Amino acid sequence: MDKKILEKIKKDLLARKKRVEEDLKSFAKKDDHEKDEHRTKFPNYGDKSDENVQEIDDYTTNLATERVLESTLRDINNAIDRIKKGTYGICKYCKKEIGGKRLLARPVANTCITCKTRLQKMS
Ligand SMILES: [Zn+2]
Repeated sequence: MDKKILEKIKKDLLARKKRVEEDLKSFAKKDDHEKDEHRTKFPNYGDKSDENVQEIDDYTTNLATERVLESTLRDINNAIDRIKKGTYGICKYCKKEIGGKRLLARPVANTCITCKTRLQKMS
């Protein structure tokens, strides 16, 4: 894989990682025991019943967001790991190169477009 493209992707991944972590931090607390796990904080707006309803509402929304962001974070971390190990850009199914164009569009991709299309047809 082209060194320049890889550098660009690495930078992009690290920037994304930072953004996702900051998003998570805004409503969740980092878990001290499990790596990359977060706990959504329960908001506290007051004791009136409409405030309580809003608390539960926001908590539920944040929980769902937490799950999405955590899964994004995991994908990003896995991609960064692959760059470190030198296996980045190789399709996990057919072991062929994924291709710079696809990776620039989707840096966390670990399958080539051929395998991806095949898998989508099966499911
Ligand atoms: Zn493939």
